[in-house]
Amino acid sequence: MSSHDTTGAERTSLPAYDQIDVSVLVVGAGAAGARTAIELAEHGVEDLLVLGKRNHGDAHTTWARGGINGALGTHDPEDSWAIHAADTLNEGHFLNDPGKVETVTEQMPERLRELDEWGMDFSRTDGGEIDQRFFGAQSFRRTAFAGDHTGESMLNALVDRAQELSVPYRENVMVTKLLSDGEQLYGAVGFDMDTGQFLLFNAGTVVLAAGGYAASYNRHTSRDDENNGDGPALAYYAGAELMDMEFVQFHPTGMAVDESDPEWEPWSGRLVTEAVRGEGGRLYNTAGERFMERYSPDQMELDARDVVARAIAKEIKEGRGTENGGVYLDLSHKDAAFIQERLPRMYERFQELGVDMAAEPVEVAPTAHYGMGGVAVDEHGETSVDGLFAIGETMAGVHGANRLGGNSLAETVAFGVVAGERIAERTDGPGSLPDSVVGGVAEPHLRDLSELAGCNGDHDVMDVFTAIQDVLWDHAGILRDEASMRAGLDALDDLRHKATDMSVGPVTSRSFEFAVDVGFMLTAAEAVLRGGLERTESRGAHYRTDNPETDPDWRQNIYFELADLGGMSTHTEPVGTSSQAVQDALDEGHELDYHQLE
Ligand SMILES: Cc1cc2nc3c(=O)[nH]c(=O)nc-3n(C[C@H](O)[C@H](O)[C@H](O)COP(=O)(O)OP(=O)(O)OC[C@H]3O[C@@H](n4cnc5c(N)ncnc54)[C@H](O)[C@@H]3O)c2cc1C
Repeated sequence: MSSHDTTGAERTSLPAYDQIDVSVLVVGAGAAGARTAIELAEHGVEDLLVLGKRNHGDAHTTWARGGINGALGTHDPEDSWAIHAADTLNEGHFLNDPGKVETVTEQMPERLRELDEWGMDFSRTDGGEIDQRFFGAQSFRRTAFAGDHTGESMLNALVDRAQELSVPYRENVMVTKLLSDGEQLYGAVGFDMDTGQFLLFNAGTVVLAAGGYAASYNRHTSRDDENNGDGPALAYYAGAELMDMEFVQFHPTGMAVDESDPEWEPWSGRLVTEAVRGEGGRLYNTAGERFMERYSPDQMELDARDVVARAIAKEIKEGRGTENGGVYLDLSHKDAAFIQERLPRMYERFQELGVDMAAEPVEVAPTAHYGMGGVAVDEHGETSVDGLFAIGETMAGVHGANRLGGNSLAETVAFGVVAGERIAERTDGPGSLPDSVVGGVAEPHLRDLSELAGCNGDHDVMDVFTAIQDVLWDHAGILRDEASMRAGLDALDDLRHKATDMSVGPVTSRSFEFAVDVGFMLTAAEAVLRGGLERTESRGAHYRTDNPETDPDWRQNIYFELADLGGMSTHTEPVGTSSQAVQDALDEGHELDYHQLE
């Protein structure tokens, strides 16, 4: 690492920064970043650095609850990777990239066994095998789990493995810009959130594993300070394309609470894991009807997330919802010991709030959960910018128009391996950061950052931040139409203007971090709205009340890129075809029969 004191006369506003040279910079320390780093280290790449915005081992991944998919066939030996792929394509309404789906589903049995070997605390059958539970819209029990703290257990195992391999980590560093000339990647700029020191990374390869954009909605399941679109926006401004951004999954069961009660208010929108329905949870409206009988008599509560979310939204809209704007999710037909064993964290959370899940239902309503879109990548996880990879929740392609629960954790480790192998084959040192990129990209950005810190503008950062979240929830929510999305884009223009005049604290303050995030969120939100407007059909999680049918001609992905004049341009491309094995599985027509659960 070298230091640059750049307070020369003609460059007075350029702040000092430290330069760090590495071959591979992994931006993100969740499951995707950790698994990539392990693969690199196992291939002998030592000159790498993993960094995250939070402490070591503390990433959004730890919030994942219900499970991770892989066709192990513990209970259902007839399951296979091809049927897993077929279920994924069905749930994705055939907008997924079939090659990427197969990459994930083919690998997963091996990835699960490997996690087991590395110490992941899987729940087990009486015979000691990795247990598997039902999850929505899956033909067989294929969701492996660690109680209802699957993500935490998984990340612990990955971090332990990375430490065994001496993978270097750096905590509390936020990356604010990637350095590229639009074709080649050279590194990144960021800052140390504890000390405020600006950092310039000279790296020949950057892996973006920085999560997604679902927290850009005001009612969401994510941590408030994660999933604000950092990954997609960083890639977009480096010259990579985004894809499928209009597809945002609304999880059917977020907590519906009395928001005027300070004890309950922080829990609004938080996830009630799908595993509650997977373990037999039933949905009722205030008229006492088990309303999924009307919407999906075969798959009932375990139909696809978009189907269940729209059903709940309809019940609430038509006046059969609770005072807190939800419906009831009831598991009280199971005894307390069963719930405590299978869903310990959920049981505990509600018990602390004074609700006994074994005796009474909980209130739930849809909440923004996951962005299926993200950065467009090839089969190795590489973007169109040479040396820039994007994986995990940051990448697009695996989930199509709607994500199968349990598939995102699967995607993190499967693509971590694929990208890691690819990078290891060709990495050859940090590379050289051209002066033109330092002078033309890094230094102007460092000046901008320095000016942002301590800015004394008219608008509060958090007001702008939450206003963007409101725009997405109000204008690109579960039900969308053209007029509303156009109004949403106008509202974003106004917020973009306000974002240039915010009141921001020093570099180490939370307001500085959130001010940077405002920029990322504006990009993600614009892509969601533009994609939603352009896609004149309904498919999966994207439901347009003015175009309620699925249009077969729209079996195309929408791509978003930064145009020469700085605006966002879009184009479409048709989706690829599946292998024969997966086509056969599709033709066989596997489907979950919910009633076998009862
Ligand atoms: C409540 C909840 C429950 C879920 N349950 C499940 C489940 O049961 N099964 C399932 O398959 N999926 C589940 N998911 C989804 C799943 O958790 C995520 O998709 C997955 O963990 C994403 O992992 P990741 O490694 O891609 O990103 P993350 O775990 O989000 O990690 C992102 C990393 O990037 C870092 N980072 C972000 N921005 C920057 C920046 N600008 N600079 C530096 N670092 C940055 C972060 O600090 C973090 O280290 C759930 C999600 C939620 C919200």
